[in-house]
Amino acid sequence: MMNDELFNKSPLIKKHFGKCALCGKECELTFEHIPPKSSGNMQSVKPVSLESYLKKGNRLPWDLKGVKYINLQKGMGLYSLCSDCNSFTGAKYGDSYIKDIKALNQIFEESLPQDTNAIELEIYPLRFFKQICSHFCSINPGLEIASFVLDEESKIFDKSKYRMQMYFTQNRIIRFNSFSAFGNIKTGRLDIISEITAYPVGFQLISNPQKELPYVGFDITSFSDCSYNDKRRVVFPLIIKEVNTIMGNDYRSKEEIIAQIEKSEAFKKENNNGIL
Ligand SMILES: [Zn+2]
Repeated sequence: MMNDELFNKSPLIKKHFGKCALCGKECELTFEHIPPKSSGNMQSVKPVSLESYLKKGNRLPWDLKGVKYINLQKGMGLYSLCSDCNSFTGAKYGDSYIKDIKALNQIFEESLPQDTNAIELEIYPLRFFKQICSHFCSINPGLEIASFVLDEESKIFDKSKYRMQMYFTQNRIIRFNSFSAFGNIKTGRLDIISEITAYPVGFQLISNPQKELPYVGFDITSFSDCSYNDKRRVVFPLIIKEVNTIMGNDYRSKEEIIAQIEKSEAFKKENNNGIL
């Protein structure tokens, strides 16, 4: 699932001429699998448009019958990178990232102890981090962290401007959304967030993060301090979020969504009765 900016502006099916999301070169763009193909993203998917999704009436958010979609045979992703950048990120970060995701998949499916609150894994943190950054560049063309991705040794990631949060999910929806604003009327808080979620993990790239505010999941921005060849045993807190709708930053459970729909229906009914 993706928001309309991605759905309409980035042709999903055909090769096309455009600007590479990493180096900026104008050329015939190649397909970047998001998440990487061998991490499980190789089956046919049906991305849906947010506009069509919102028009679908009173059905529940996970009921996609009748919603406009594209049949994407090769898996989820976008024509976003030139062939050089696609090969570079695949070789430098993708191969390592795929191993990590496969290991996390295996732990999730086969050996997750009931009482655990963390998953430990030996990874190359900088490679892991740069693979995710590459995906965020693909869905947000022109993003300034592209230069950080294109230099495998670079540790220049501006933490005052960006922060990366990670979480786990057990839902099978792939969701990616380019930067959008999320406001809270009650608290006045406004967040600018881009998101990529694909089982068993999800990430939020936060623009202009506020140090004192809590964000979804756990902070992995410090992965950018590692060197390219640093291997570390990382403890991932087992924070599992539910992903049941197309909307970015929405981690409500199905029960919470149903309760909210019922509440708003009741409110509407009461209001109408008041007016009529
Ligand atoms: Zn390029």
